[in-house]
Amino acid sequence: MFLLSGDLENFDLQYVKGIGPYNKKLLAKKGIKDIFELLTHFPRDYEDRRKIVSIGQLNLGFHTIKATVIDVMSRKSYHGPMRIEIIVGDETGRIPLIFFNQAYIAKVLKEDDEIIISGKVEFNYGRIFFNNPEWEKIATDNEVSLSHSRIVPIYHLTEGLSQNKLRKFIYNCLGFAKDRIVDPIPEIIKNKFDIPDEKYAIIRTHFPKNDEDFSDVRNFNTEHQKRLILDEIFYLQYYWGKRKIKIKSEPGISYRILKEKLNNFIKGLPFELTPAQKTALEEILNDMADKTPMNRLLQGDVGSGKTIVSLIAMLNAVYNGYQAAIMVPTEVLAQQHYIKISKLLSKFDIKVGLLYSKLKKSEQKKTNQSISDGSLHIVIGTHALFQGQVKFDKLGFIVIDEQHRFGVEQRMEMIGKGIRPDVLVMSATPIPRSLALTIYGDMDFSVINELPAGRKLIKTKSIVNNQDKLIEKIRSHFDKDEKSFVVFPLIEETEKMDLLSAEQGFEALSKVFGSENVELLHGKMKSDKKISVMDRFANKKVKILVSTTVIEVGIDVPEATLMIVMNAERFGLSQLHQLRGRVGRSNLPSECLLYTEHKKGARIKIMEKYNDGFDISREDFKLRGPGEIMGTSQSGVPPFKLFNVFRDRELVELSHDMIGEIKREYGGFNHPDLRNIELIIEKFYKEKIKYSEIL
Ligand code: ADP
Ligand code: MG
Repeated sequence: MFLLSGDLENFDLQYVKGIGPYNKKLLAKKGIKDIFELLTHFPRDYEDRRKIVSIGQLNLGFHTIKATVIDVMSRKSYHGPMRIEIIVGDETGRIPLIFFNQAYIAKVLKEDDEIIISGKVEFNYGRIFFNNPEWEKIATDNEVSLSHSRIVPIYHLTEGLSQNKLRKFIYNCLGFAKDRIVDPIPEIIKNKFDIPDEKYAIIRTHFPKNDEDFSDVRNFNTEHQKRLILDEIFYLQYYWGKRKIKIKSEPGISYRILKEKLNNFIKGLPFELTPAQKTALEEILNDMADKTPMNRLLQGDVGSGKTIVSLIAMLNAVYNGYQAAIMVPTEVLAQQHYIKISKLLSKFDIKVGLLYSKLKKSEQKKTNQSISDGSLHIVIGTHALFQGQVKFDKLGFIVIDEQHRFGVEQRMEMIGKGIRPDVLVMSATPIPRSLALTIYGDMDFSVINELPAGRKLIKTKSIVNNQDKLIEKIRSHFDKDEKSFVVFPLIEETEKMDLLSAEQGFEALSKVFGSENVELLHGKMKSDKKISVMDRFANKKVKILVSTTVIEVGIDVPEATLMIVMNAERFGLSQLHQLRGRVGRSNLPSECLLYTEHKKGARIKIMEKYNDGFDISREDFKLRGPGEIMGTSQSGVPPFKLFNVFRDRELVELSHDMIGEIKREYGGFNHPDLRNIELIIEKFYKEKIKYSEIL
């Protein structure tokens, strides 16, 4: 990231040497509309053209030669495209260059022209030839070659642009703009950490020096390239660092930690907390005791037991005389938490309420009333909690469950409320710590990194087009009195076909297993209906639940031991992992079956191979790249283009250290030397980051 001095920010691209109005339009099609965008259109790959070989040495594959044009032939066949054949030679031999539909080449190349050729040597019709190579007349003394005798950048192109042209545009642009590239990071900091200047980072990323190691260049691993990756992390972290200071400077609630009362509750639980749960709880309680507002992320894989930890923290708030609220993404989940939490608290004098937008008006009114007069202590709800008329009497603690499921708007509503109690955000998105530091940088972290003792690995298998096998599997669980989920994709609520297949599946299974044992659940059903269906499955005799992805997150039915995902190829990895996490919640062995009609794809293979969320997110990253790491696409943070969480961990640490140093050096973030950093954030990040702020 950089600023451009002078009025280069508004410089019209067509006046860059070589571009002109025509190419300006082509570039615009590629999203390149100004100098900044042109200079940050980084290579997608590089080719090593440093070595020139003679024609006699050529074999198949990629090569660069220097040769003289001997003959130019163009031929238009009856059916085929225009074919140009150029024969070139050096003192060791001759070879043809073959081009299709590039008639202009026959006009610009003449006998005796000296050219450099780079491309793929292929074999066909009994001879070797260069297939559609890049070529260039040999540069005169005061011209540099951009496409030969060096490590050459390869760009994403658009129709009408060639690699050659784009290289020239970027080179020419650098020619006059390079000295006006302003690096916002102060000199002292760069020197201290030995970081190259932005200007050279840009130049050398487009045109690497010839003495670089080629594999480093290709892997984006040179010092100059790494500086550009660092930029993607640094400004975000800087912003978070600053925000964190701001949050911590505001007065929050300083809770007493009522150990005895909490222990009394913990003792009554049907299980012992895991060591990881205990540590997380301790961190949360320490935050609560602190007089600054808490803003903490509790991360833990599906089934690791986050709910109970948050409940104990909520209890502490309630025992201190405050209200607590837990916000969840679906009504079904709100209902589930409501039932479970009410049960756990039944022996205690604590009132629990439930709120969601489709609740009957009369009930909603009653609930709102008891929220505002303080008679409800813990309120469980969907985002309806933070809408419209709801007014808390004394809200002191908010839990946001499955926070990655909340869209941008819903979080904005909370920001709009200007609420500042302690906040605990929970997420099962198993992102690496380095990424978490970068996207949720204004939060503190707790991690539950183990499952409760006795949990068995969920066996995952695919079934390809074999419904009998499916029925047989369901029956084996059914006969043991265990419960099964059968999930159909419903990607858009409007996809009637999908819904139909869920309904058909429901009917078919009802016939086989008896209608009293099977229920159907989908997002289009009325709230009451959804909730009663879920209740019959979770708490009563119903053994098979046919459903859409409404049960994807949070649902906890420990007796369920079989998860079947139909048309599994239509789900993303993070969804599949969440769905699988609905089983394996007790000490019984569980299974997950991924059903496809045709052969299984890459994602299904990954699911069969890995159980741990971190492994799955790494594989997801390999498939989809940095822009869309598992479950983070809603985070609102600008997408990363270069940053690779699995490769660039050390840059995250470096950036972290740099920010620490800035704080020390400048005594905070309000120094004139940091002004340009502010400008970058203002320009590239502010608007977008705003949405990802929890408060
Ligand atoms: P998640 O982290 O996915 O939200 P839950 O909070 O739903 O997980 O917990 C999963 C299941 O494990 C629940 O049935 C819960 O009661 C149970 N559980 C939580 N902690 C423990 C523990 N320490 N030992 C045994 N079971 C536990
Ligand atoms: Mg949960």
